[in-house]
Amino acid sequence: MKLYSTNNKDNIVDFEEAIFNSLPQDKGLYMPLEIPRMSDSFIQNMKDLSFQEIAFDIAKAFLKDTIPADELMQIIFEAINFKAPVVELADETFALELFHGPSLAFKDFGARFMSRIMGYFIEQGEKKLDVLVATSGDTGGAVALGFLRVSNTRVTILYPKGKVSPIQELQLTTNAENIRAIEIDGTFDDCQKLVKQAFIDPELNEKYRLTSANSINIARLIPQTFYYFNAYAQLLKRGVSEVIFSVPSGNFGNIGAGILAWKMGLPVKQFIAATNMNDTVPLFLETGNYIPKASIQTYSNAMDVGDPSNWVRIMQMFGGSREELKKIIIGYKYTDEQTLDAIKQLYKENNYVVCPHTAVAWLGVNEYKKSNPDETARYVFLSTAHPCKFPEIFPEEIAAEIKIPSQVRDLEGKQKQVASLAADYAGFKDYLLTAI
Ligand SMILES: *Cc1c(COP(=O)(O)O)cnc(C)c1O
Repeated sequence: MKLYSTNNKDNIVDFEEAIFNSLPQDKGLYMPLEIPRMSDSFIQNMKDLSFQEIAFDIAKAFLKDTIPADELMQIIFEAINFKAPVVELADETFALELFHGPSLAFKDFGARFMSRIMGYFIEQGEKKLDVLVATSGDTGGAVALGFLRVSNTRVTILYPKGKVSPIQELQLTTNAENIRAIEIDGTFDDCQKLVKQAFIDPELNEKYRLTSANSINIARLIPQTFYYFNAYAQLLKRGVSEVIFSVPSGNFGNIGAGILAWKMGLPVKQFIAATNMNDTVPLFLETGNYIPKASIQTYSNAMDVGDPSNWVRIMQMFGGSREELKKIIIGYKYTDEQTLDAIKQLYKENNYVVCPHTAVAWLGVNEYKKSNPDETARYVFLSTAHPCKFPEIFPEEIAAEIKIPSQVRDLEGKQKQVASLAADYAGFKDYLLTAI
């Protein structure tokens, strides 16, 4: 598999280089030089395949020249080891639940696949891979649990002290083994600065093989196509063949993967890009002006992104044309108040509790339905995290209904292990050089 940089089509690298660099030197993003096309017969027959079989066939279409089939199959079977069911609510609308993995959010798909792909390329005897991540909550948990016990790798996570939710903190700090957590007395931006400085530190780079496991890594995008195909397969089983996906979007990786799936031949009728008030993309779709903004804090905080880094990838898939893009994507944005109302309404009408990100996607479905009353396709909104990760947002009556999954109950008995550091580079570097 070959990839090019979105800033320079002549900058072509192979897959291994793309995953370990994450970002090309020219600051573009890696994209597949050729997007494989899945056959119509594959798509029609998916309803007879398991999720893992579907995922394997798609991964093979990308990576058949790069990773031998038996090894790829093992990677898929280890990485995609939890379900992604579509759940029917009232009026033939479906929730695609992507939160059944270890960190209870859809980022598990990307993180688990990427960790095992990286593990595959690091051969025995090579320098161990050191992953450094700064997190405001969700990404760190997925990366930590994704890399847990992957041989030849070690993860160091930095998070802002006191600023992640209790469940997130458990996910970050109870792993031990090859995962280390550091609470930084500062903000998420401080954490990110420390990590960035470490990446350009010659002494650290001499001693360690550092990587960022960044969210824009192409190895995180590919596995996110799997669940769009699998959702379609589940709907085919119910006799549904026309689908509209609504995706709660922040950095636009999730919906980017959906569009990639569509480019690969998945028959999607429409994508709804639903955002919170970080509305750079809905505004661009409406006006044609892409104006990056500083992010605003909202209830759906994993979507608080004012300049979505995957947006260039999406533009590339439409040859840069907003007109082409608008044929398949519509953008909507919602306030916190609307988000909370949506959580209450879904609970009242369906007895179904969603996280604030998912509520934004459901609002997108409702708005689209209102303006297209004759639409015959079925709606699927992506449910990106388990509601128990955001306990502070729910009214008491709804919070009481949230069932704590076993992944969290298992963590509660475990010992927390965390180093505490100031937001100061000298101290962080000293930790990296001396801690074991
Ligand atoms: C990261 C995240 C999102 C946003 O996904 P993008 O790929 O960044 O658009 C939505 N919901 C949850 C729960 C997330 O963790």
